[in-house]
Amino acid sequence: PLYADYIQSHIRTVPDWPQPGVMFRDITPLLQDPKLFRVLVDTFVHRYMDAQLDVVAGVDARGFILGAVVAYELNLGFVPIRKKGKLPYLTVAEEYELEYGSATVEIHTDACKPGDRVLLIDDLVATGGTMLAAYNLLHRLGATVVEGAAIVDLPELGGSKLIRDQGLPLFTICDFA
Ligand code: IMP
Repeated sequence: PLYADYIQSHIRTVPDWPQPGVMFRDITPLLQDPKLFRVLVDTFVHRYMDAQLDVVAGVDARGFILGAVVAYELNLGFVPIRKKGKLPYLTVAEEYELEYGSATVEIHTDACKPGDRVLLIDDLVATGGTMLAAYNLLHRLGATVVEGAAIVDLPELGGSKLIRDQGLPLFTICDFA
């Protein structure tokens, strides 16, 4: 679709960041421009406005920016899934593997109720580890994760396939080879 090309053409690629060999896809130009920001947010809002959602969950940190605005527009609440050690109340945690080492994400135990229909948002899917860990957290709270959503998919890293193979439908606006 046209909006997807429009959005993709404004994602900035930063070579060799945060380390040599990485092509970092930087979505900040989409947030900075008011027209692009609206097109971006509206893409998600229109997709989910009839999805009977109960809550939107966003992943630390760019998933907070997108997820909170989408939640607001859908008249829903927002819950953060944060990196380890940031949430003050009772949490459940999921550890997952990174290329070098591991990472942990957490959610408050009262972030959603069993049976809640949740939309899970992040900015980008690479290996899929982050989104799957977030999905597992929501699952452990008894939520129904309706879909995972992100702006960008990097399909060659296999994450989007892994996510769908695990039973989570995934929507992304554009992909980079
Ligand atoms: P994954 O867990 O390997 O799928 O990596 C996805 C997570 O890392 C997301 O939370 C992204 O915000 C972040 N990430 C990885 N690569 C990029 C990139 O090129 N641009 C922006 N974020 C990235």
